[in-house]
Amino acid sequence: MLKGKTAVVTGGSRGIGRAICLKLAEHGADIAFLYAGNTEKAEETVKAVEAMGRKVRAYRCNVADAEAAAATVKEIVTDFGGIHILVNNAGITKDKLVPMMKAAEFDAVVDTNLKGAFYMIKGVYPLFLKQKSGKIINISSVSGLTGNPGQANYSASKAGLIGLTKAVAKELAGRGVCCNAIAPGFIATEMTEDLENAAVKEAIPMKRFGKAEEVANLALFLAAAHSDYITGEVIRVDGGLAM
Ligand code: NAP
Repeated sequence: MLKGKTAVVTGGSRGIGRAICLKLAEHGADIAFLYAGNTEKAEETVKAVEAMGRKVRAYRCNVADAEAAAATVKEIVTDFGGIHILVNNAGITKDKLVPMMKAAEFDAVVDTNLKGAFYMIKGVYPLFLKQKSGKIINISSVSGLTGNPGQANYSASKAGLIGLTKAVAKELAGRGVCCNAIAPGFIATEMTEDLENAAVKEAIPMKRFGKAEEVANLALFLAAAHSDYITGEVIRVDGGLAM
């Protein structure tokens, strides 16, 4: 399905990002992924992709650093010969109610979750324009759709990502490039391990957390030709949470 394609996934060392790396590799893509600093986990993803017989390389790069993100995109093009799919998945939380939330905590979350995606899109934009094709997938969140108390910074970053998705989709729709967003609900990863209790599950219509692979299944669809007429869309993977 994705043979001959190179996918760039930010935050591929763990959680949803790793599941996306594995899913795209399983369907033939070569994988270049970025991670913040967890080299041990990044190595695990590298080994798992290699075991599928795909080319893979991990790049330690802070997506919130505009110059580093631009340089890493260039490095990937040199290493892989091109980029066809970009998944902006790297994300962090710094949850607090507004009175307790420091400006620096608001900035850190917006810098990583929203500006990081912008820098990566800026990197691939000229390539995708030139090749008149490309798939951009931004991992937003239901928090960006509905807002979530204690997550003013995170909700703002994830809502911003939806605006970014639609603007980029409109800029590039005439050039054969699709840009869509996925809005996961509660997915079982390190980010949510403290939240997985009976009360939270009870609030989810499907009464369970999602699996990272269930987000990756949608990322595969949005990365493949099956979704070529879909752009500017936001699709929830949330067990019905935000309907
Ligand atoms: P996670 O397990 O905490 O993993 C986060 C990943 O992002 C790691 O690979 C981490 O790298 C990387 N990362 C963090 N900051 C980075 C930076 N500045 N530059 C480069 N990479 C960075 O998170 P997750 O639960 O898989 O979440 C993945 C995405 O889905 C996030 O955008 C999150 O907001 C979104 N999401 C998650 C849920 C959920 O329930 N889990 C729900 C909705 C949306 P290191 O390993 O090196 O630290």
